[in-house]
Amino acid sequence: MKKVLILGSTGSIGVNALNVIRKFPDRFSVAGLTANSNISVLSEQIKEFKPQFVVIKDKSKAKELSEIVNQNVEIISSENALVEAAQKYDYDILIGAIVGFAGLTPTIEAIKRGKRIALANKETLVVAGEIVTRLVAENGAEIIPVDSEHSAIYQCLVGENLNEVEKLILTASGGPFLNKEKSFFDNATVNEALNHPNWKMGSKITIDSATMMNKGLEVIEAHWLFGLPVEKIDVVIHPQSIIHSMVQFVDGSIKAQLGIPDMKLPIQYALTFPERLSNNFERTNLPLINNLTFFEPDFDKFECLKLAYLALQTGGTAPCILNAANEIAVDKFLKGFIRFSEIPKLINKALDKIENHSNPDIETIIECDKLTREFINNLN
Ligand code: NDP
Ligand code: MG
Repeated sequence: MKKVLILGSTGSIGVNALNVIRKFPDRFSVAGLTANSNISVLSEQIKEFKPQFVVIKDKSKAKELSEIVNQNVEIISSENALVEAAQKYDYDILIGAIVGFAGLTPTIEAIKRGKRIALANKETLVVAGEIVTRLVAENGAEIIPVDSEHSAIYQCLVGENLNEVEKLILTASGGPFLNKEKSFFDNATVNEALNHPNWKMGSKITIDSATMMNKGLEVIEAHWLFGLPVEKIDVVIHPQSIIHSMVQFVDGSIKAQLGIPDMKLPIQYALTFPERLSNNFERTNLPLINNLTFFEPDFDKFECLKLAYLALQTGGTAPCILNAANEIAVDKFLKGFIRFSEIPKLINKALDKIENHSNPDIETIIECDKLTREFINNLN
């Protein structure tokens, strides 16, 4: 029986993780759950999964939560609550399903304790990949990716030798604007950008999919997860999202992992690896799909993808600047303060103006994240 701590249990990945855990009551129990402010979903989860503790980040909601939950659960809401939860409590697996930079420090604490991390929060590897992978090795921890592309590559690499990999091929749906002209981006609305053709996800990653920054972040994530140089990580557009990614080996052979677009499968794999457990999730009906297509990405149209490659090549704190600028720019777009086409422009400005530090430690990364947020917020 494995005890699971889910950071971000009320989000899209968090809810899907609980959908998986619900199917395997003799394998997994819930040690802890965390949310930012959504106490209505969190209270329902507490009732069903009976965690030992929960973290609610928004302090004003802690009292309200304690009033609606009438069972024995510790409710934590201090400044440092996420880090403390990861540090102190008893659990075997941490599911990192918080969105953004906020996932970094609690994940590091779990790594220091040698835990298994089922990692959805790609931003953790984007901003601090070098430190995170070093800590994983030093502490005997493990990161099993939840991101569907990286789960696919992980699955393709089982039994293989990393030295025999020629390249990784990350597939990208291309998002809702794949077939739009670049000129459309000036007037693209929030609702249009949130209307992803294949995946139902949280709003930040859905906008990242529309700009293709999501794929850019995934290139950086793949670099740290699999230790391959940027030249060996390609992106190919595959609008059907059935092939979740591929590995090409030195003999020219390509292995792919297929499935319907549903995050339950990569979440389950990250929880049970190296085992595969039988489930009754929907299966892929290949004759029904009928057609799988592939294209080169348009780097001129999707500037965010280009900027992410550039940040990875630059190294140091460039990926941290890219990520922080993107988080603020996406938030501004979602609030209607900037146009869709301004997202890459703001990120470019930040990469241009903010000083890069090579071999940053964690304090430098935290400072760089803060500085970049201030920089973008103070523009105009
Ligand atoms: P959601 O926005 O749906 O959920 C985010 C979760 O994190 C919620 O539980 C939210 O709480 C909590 N949260 C948000 N901000 C903070 C904060 N500052 N401090 C603490 N908790 C916070 O996101 P997704 O589930 O879509 O994505 C989560 C991560 O997984 C992202 O990094 C994303 O890139 C990655 N991912 C997601 C996929 C998907 O299919 N959704 C696929 C692959 C990767 P509350 O509900 O209270 O706001
Ligand atoms: Mg993905």
